[in-house]
Amino acid sequence: MDHYSVKMRAARVGEHISGAEKIVPAASVPKTVAQLAERALSHEKGTPDFINIKIEDPGEILRLESLSVTTNVTATASEGRARAAELLKAAGIIRIDEIMARFAECHAMRGAMLLDADTLERLEPDSVRGVRATYMDDADSLQKGTASGKNHYAEAIVLATKVQNAPGIVGEICVSDDPNYVTGYVATRGIGYQRITVLKEKGDPNGGRIFLYRGPRADVAKTIAFLEHQSVIVDHVPVLDTPLPSRRFAGLESDLAAISSAGLSRHCHALSSPTGPHASFQSKDPAIKQPNNFLLVLSSNDYLDLAGDARVIEAGAEGMRRWGAGSGGSRLTTGTQPPHTELEDHLARFKGTEAAIIFGTGYMANVGTITALVKKGDAILSDELNHASIIDGCRLSGADVIVYRHADLEDLSRKLASCREHRRRLVVSDAVFSMDGDLLDLPRFLEICRRHDAFSMIDEAHATGVVGKTGRGLAEHFGCEHPDITLGTLSKALGAEGGFVCGSQTLIDYLRNKARSFIFSTAPSGGVMAAADAALTVLEQEPERVARLRRNTELFVAELAKRGIAVRTDSAIVPVPVGDERRALEASARLREKGFLIPAIRYPTVARGSARLRCALMSAHTESELIAAAKAVAEVLSF
Ligand SMILES: *Cc1c(COP(=O)(O)O)cnc(C)c1O
Repeated sequence: MDHYSVKMRAARVGEHISGAEKIVPAASVPKTVAQLAERALSHEKGTPDFINIKIEDPGEILRLESLSVTTNVTATASEGRARAAELLKAAGIIRIDEIMARFAECHAMRGAMLLDADTLERLEPDSVRGVRATYMDDADSLQKGTASGKNHYAEAIVLATKVQNAPGIVGEICVSDDPNYVTGYVATRGIGYQRITVLKEKGDPNGGRIFLYRGPRADVAKTIAFLEHQSVIVDHVPVLDTPLPSRRFAGLESDLAAISSAGLSRHCHALSSPTGPHASFQSKDPAIKQPNNFLLVLSSNDYLDLAGDARVIEAGAEGMRRWGAGSGGSRLTTGTQPPHTELEDHLARFKGTEAAIIFGTGYMANVGTITALVKKGDAILSDELNHASIIDGCRLSGADVIVYRHADLEDLSRKLASCREHRRRLVVSDAVFSMDGDLLDLPRFLEICRRHDAFSMIDEAHATGVVGKTGRGLAEHFGCEHPDITLGTLSKALGAEGGFVCGSQTLIDYLRNKARSFIFSTAPSGGVMAAADAALTVLEQEPERVARLRRNTELFVAELAKRGIAVRTDSAIVPVPVGDERRALEASARLREKGFLIPAIRYPTVARGSARLRCALMSAHTESELIAAAKAVAEVLSF
């Protein structure tokens, strides 16, 4: 025997893992077997339970010239279908949408579906098994005597070439059944192999092969015999040596198009004014009407108007002149200067804890702290409405993340009770929930954590400077102890930039040694630290700012209530529920036209269908401004 057909199939109970076939010279059989076994054992779908390798006489071998190959770059599935329809029309195949709908029937089939190209009747004798195109290889294997180095693109071209040479076959459509793989192809002898980069929607599990037949029913058996038994070697299969060039960007473009059509597109609107309660706004977009080019800002986290405070700015500018524009290194190398350590001491005094540590941002503080404290084998209990930076820290930690219902401390307690086997338990919650404005019940939270010997951690990003008589946060508000870990940001009420954690000396020493976002990132500049320090001093010296912020919030809520809009808050965040994403966007756009900057908050920041106008108040807003804002909100929502 000159040649052998070598086939491999690997599977786990009931699940196909991989398969391949070769036609090779007799001398190459051992090497080919080894290569196919290797391939079966290293498949990304996992290890097989059994590998079947069959070596047999291929019979008479037919040589075929490869179909030509063309790549069609499409951005969306509908564009891909339109392209496929256009290409197949030349072969008189017109019912492409109906044909592609049949992929839903392909699920359990090992082989392809054989359809009458015109009536779309199924022609396979066994409709569960389908028709298998097999006994084929590209000429490389034959010449080099090795399993070809070409990838599965080449295998698909070999298959398509054999199929298009079968008697009666006029075309083929193929899409993967992998929901994440959206590339497919259509083929005929006339158009060749036409790869279409996006031929189905991402997430669509339907796929398979459909062979299209035209001819007498009596000849179907001949077609199937050719597909299933005739050995074929394909010459001149083009090598796809670089991965498809633009598929990766076509994928991004189609994702963006989907985001946009769902009303979820995001843009940065540049304000042309310093941070503060008022903003000017110049849009290059003529569609955005801006009669007075002046906006009242009800969306800033600069709650106490400290970002624009002359003393804070001067301290920052002086700090920058003195210490440099940047810190030049990580905190553990050259990036620690007096402003860093002074601010850490100041924060610890302000919060009433033993020590504090500063991070580049609040986001980094959450990610760094959570990943330092817990890992695989530990448990994190996290409120379902916690901030994204907490969620990311949880994910990155590798610990078991157990989400409890929002503010449901009974649920927390129950879930904690089932975590006794874990090495460590960490319970983490926003102090003020950033999209709803409600407060964590800290005394009960602490009591539950203590009972289960769990670390207690709160994120006071929206609480520092806002909650408690003098803005010291939740512990001050409730008159209770501090949790083990209190996290905050310098970038909201303190008007600067950076994140921090307050707690025991042990905790802070530990984070300095273990928190990767502290260790492996450049320290914030001494100037920014000096600005934050000055802001903290202003907050301590002028607690009336906190009181004014609270009065403003109460006034705004009362003014909304007068106009039939019932909202509640325990902080300076006032969410006005809208529901529908597009309606919220529309309301926000109208408010902007009226001179109010109030953003629409949408999925994925909040759940789908719970879009809202999120108002954030400042101590610097005046009574008349807030009355006007409440009036405007009521007006835009009455449509
Ligand atoms: C804003 C925010 C953060 C992130 O703080 P940055 O300093 O802006 O990175 C973390 N947690 C919560 C609850 C926040 O609202």
